Amino acid sequence: MRAVIPFLYENSPFYRARFDRLGQTPANDRGVEDLEKWPVIDKSEMMEDVSQFPPWGNYTTVTDEIWGQRGWMLFSSSGSTGTPRPFRYTHVDRVQWAWANARGMHAIGFRKGESAFIMSGYGPHVFAWGVQVALETLDLPCIPGGGMDAKARANIILRFKPTILVCTPSYALHMARVMQSLGYDPAQSSVCTILVGGEPAMGIDATRTRIENLWGARLVEFYGCTEVSPHVGGYSCSAVPRKGEPVSTHLMEDIQIWETVDPETRKTTAPGTRGLTVCTSLNSESSPQLRFLVGDYATLTHERCTCGRTHARARGSFAGRSDDLINLRGIKMYPVQVEEAVRAVPGIGDEYEIVLMRDTAGLDIMTIVCEHGDHTDGVIANRVADEIRIRCEIRADVVFNPMGTLPKTEFKAKRVRDMRGT
Ligand SMILES: [Zn+2]
Repeated sequence: MRAVIPFLYENSPFYRARFDRLGQTPANDRGVEDLEKWPVIDKSEMMEDVSQFPPWGNYTTVTDEIWGQRGWMLFSSSGSTGTPRPFRYTHVDRVQWAWANARGMHAIGFRKGESAFIMSGYGPHVFAWGVQVALETLDLPCIPGGGMDAKARANIILRFKPTILVCTPSYALHMARVMQSLGYDPAQSSVCTILVGGEPAMGIDATRTRIENLWGARLVEFYGCTEVSPHVGGYSCSAVPRKGEPVSTHLMEDIQIWETVDPETRKTTAPGTRGLTVCTSLNSESSPQLRFLVGDYATLTHERCTCGRTHARARGSFAGRSDDLINLRGIKMYPVQVEEAVRAVPGIGDEYEIVLMRDTAGLDIMTIVCEHGDHTDGVIANRVADEIRIRCEIRADVVFNPMGTLPKTEFKAKRVRDMRGT
């Protein structure tokens, strides 16, 4: 922190303006104990900044000159909910990133003799590229799976027999169904481990179990975000979930400081209590961030783990981003809660959609669209509605589509369709 705070002050006009506004100077900071005096930064501040200073914004420490000298890759938020926020990372960070992710993979248990198949479109998203550079660092062979459809990818799995799949959780479900439709049992395939990122799944027991059972493989995750790379941030503990305890995701505290804050007050929450994740990245040339609100719900603990590690871990993994919050007539819930409800009823397909609408009387209503073999079955619809009522304290309409008719997404599944403003 003694290094990163003066570095930010000198190299990021966004942070310098912030420090000046707060009346803080870099020299006042002694260490982690001073962290709490810095207000948490969220995405909206970055969006404002990039609108004001297009196209890059001032929230990173990369200048055009650095980008020209040692730029590695541009990553970007999708921009589907506003101005895309770009992050230019350098080769210095690529090396850090590769080693941090390689450590995560080694901890998960990846060893020589394995090979990975990355089922990603290789867009400007950190997950696949972070995995790619780490596989190189570990000297593990890799099959890049960009630019091919699900059937072509299924054929790669069957012919070339990778032991590790890398994808989003929803794509792991989709790919298993594609294998089945081709007449193969994914559980009989070469795949032993599925490394996922981009969506909560490890912490949703029913989803994790469904993927693991379909593939006869173990599910593990990388946790992180574009803003506070270059590192995985979090990786599944391979010891805990096999011993009947909740899953745990370890965080790399030697290169990042992780905290949780209260969603309303944004004050630090005590270890063991639920809050939103906040990260300070200490070791980045391109995007060091001081208390960036990553914004996933998590319960962090610093107790020594069964595996022996003492770095903080998220007990039960992560439960979705706070900006996914659904507010329906003042009742607040997360898509994860709906997912748990949908998964609780046997026979429901893997895909589902949450549709929010305003009816003619001006009342906001929620409809859950899911898939079922007999899509007229009212009894099962009622069961799903009951599960939703138990978890979300709200009545939802449940509509069934025939199996396999809801759209499949390769990257983050878009589960919520909010049509209330239209
Ligand atoms: Zn552990």
